[in-house]
Amino acid sequence: AATETILSVNNIEVIYDHVILVLKGVSLTVPRGGIVALLGANGAGKTTTLKAVSNLLRAERGEVTKGSIEFDGERVDRMTPNELVRRGCIQVMEGRHCFGHLTIEENLLTGAFTRRDGTAAIRRDMEMVYDYFPRLRQRRSSMSGYTSGGEQQMCAIGRALMSRPKMILLDEPSMGLAPQVVEEIFEIVKDLNAKEGVSFLLAEQNTNIALRYATYGYIMETGRIVMDGDAASLRENEDVKEFYLGIG
Ligand code: ATP
Repeated sequence: AATETILSVNNIEVIYDHVILVLKGVSLTVPRGGIVALLGANGAGKTTTLKAVSNLLRAERGEVTKGSIEFDGERVDRMTPNELVRRGCIQVMEGRHCFGHLTIEENLLTGAFTRRDGTAAIRRDMEMVYDYFPRLRQRRSSMSGYTSGGEQQMCAIGRALMSRPKMILLDEPSMGLAPQVVEEIFEIVKDLNAKEGVSFLLAEQNTNIALRYATYGYIMETGRIVMDGDAASLRENEDVKEFYLGIG
């Protein structure tokens, strides 16, 4: 049965290289159909938190040593990244990882690798991605390495969509992009959330834009959540204004 909470991270601790304690008991939840922002300065532990969920830590010699993670009603903290993708949870990594020597369309196809339904369904979803990202349709035959930063970020999100996710962990989508392009990407995130029902956990240093699109936010400092609340209340909070929004 569908639960109200799609993701729950319960008091996790993460250690790199057996000794470096980076997450010191992090808990957060994402409601089904929500957009939740994970905020904080560079190095606070946002990326580590997302990778703990998607199980990408092992490649970095990191390990969840305490706590538990549940996705869609199931304990997932011992699963492989592929098993998670099959269950509908996928990460779009920071730095918009695309295969630079493949075309946009080939990149999108690589996103369908866990699927067992036929090419017709995959084709239909590709059209769906192109409908959300008209710029990708225009550039479908270009090698992604020759497209703009914004197009590469769109390609990375589009590729994730090809796995038919229930939830996307989106790491720093605004990084290095012009404000107008960032806005364009967040508008599409909002649309995907509203029309496809995709839930989002998004790590952002750009507090301002994240709190305009998210419904709820968590703020991290040195491996801990130090504050959380509705996006609207965080936007009005004096400390958030001073330290994260640069006003007041
Ligand atoms: P960013 O915006 O740079 O991604 P972040 O908030 O996502 O920052 P993390 O990348 O999760 O932060 O890093 C949190 C801490 O963990 C930092 O102090 C970082 O130096 C450390 N760290 C990250 N990866 C590793 C690793 N593979 N080995 C050891 N320490 C690491």
